[in-house]
Amino acid sequence: MFENKDGSKNSISELGEFGLIDHLTKNFQIKRKTTVKGIGDDAAVLGCEPEKELVITTDLLLENVHFDLSYMPLKHLGYKAVVVNLSDVFAMNAEPTQITVSIAVSNRFPVEALEELYAGITAATKIYNVDVVGGDTTSSTKGLLISITAIGRVDKGKAVYRSGAGINDLLVVSGDLGAAYMGLQILEREKQVFLVNPKSQPDLEPYSYLVERQLKPEARQDIPKLLRDLEVFPTAMIDISDGLSSEIIHICNNSGVGCNVYEDKIPLDPQVISVCEEFKLDSTTIALNGGEDYELLFTIKTEDYPKIKGNPHLTVIGHMTQAEEGIHLITRADTKIPIIARGWNAMEKD
Ligand code: ADP
Ligand code: MG
Repeated sequence: MFENKDGSKNSISELGEFGLIDHLTKNFQIKRKTTVKGIGDDAAVLGCEPEKELVITTDLLLENVHFDLSYMPLKHLGYKAVVVNLSDVFAMNAEPTQITVSIAVSNRFPVEALEELYAGITAATKIYNVDVVGGDTTSSTKGLLISITAIGRVDKGKAVYRSGAGINDLLVVSGDLGAAYMGLQILEREKQVFLVNPKSQPDLEPYSYLVERQLKPEARQDIPKLLRDLEVFPTAMIDISDGLSSEIIHICNNSGVGCNVYEDKIPLDPQVISVCEEFKLDSTTIALNGGEDYELLFTIKTEDYPKIKGNPHLTVIGHMTQAEEGIHLITRADTKIPIIARGWNAMEKD
């Protein structure tokens, strides 16, 4: 798709490191007033705002570990690499303001491929209103590596941690779960079909929502704002990157509480349900263990329940208990099953 086999595309080595950095970053515009100095010096300079705290988070993405370029277009990869970082900022109840982008690339990638990657990064910075203020560029012997650092701000004392959940608090999730994992299953299946018959054209239309959730996820920037508008202050919060079970366990362990989650409350999109049937997979297992949903999982005080009741973006899926009661799923058949952490990487090996 992007490989430079016939030499028709521009090679990175012709531009050189500085030419390449300049080429990729020349169109970034600065929108944030706290960006005092962006790209172009030894370091970026950011303004400090009174009564605010800074939030910083980093992610590292490796080709063939975190993404597969045979079905992940580079533009989507750039977009997703930004989004997954911003999701962590929103999970702190903060607003992202700046990012840095570091890449390691081999000569296998022509300049056009990196332009695509940066087009995706640029699109995400526009949607989420963040400035790219720096990064690093280096060569790699083989694969592509992307590391993004996101910086955000939050009112002093208003960051929400994993550790604040109390007994009887309600457990709430935004959006729906399992779609990104099933999107990955669809793409993996089409990849296998393609390997056998390269002329086959996949019909992804029936799976559009799932594939979009895998290839072009969004971070829930609306949720911290919605909660502020509703005057609900979450007691604990985390984003769902590894799967609902492991995020629940993180909140419980960090907060010193237990939890009951109700199977019949877990929000599923109809496409997830039908594709799980097609793949003969249990949709609850997928919602619990399939990762990359980038929804927010948080706890609220019971007295805040009327404020979120009926909100189409939010679903109460359980409540926190004493730590000694453990962490359980209450099934539709009313049986109690312990929830164990099985990140989606672990699941892949099954
Ligand atoms: P240094 O030698 O000090 O590391 P560089 O030449 O690597 O400086 O970078 C020059 C400028 O370009 C810096 O502002 C740096 O943050 C920025 N930069 C370098 N690589 C990237 C990249 N891949 N994406 C965005 N900005 C970058
Ligand atoms: Mg550098």
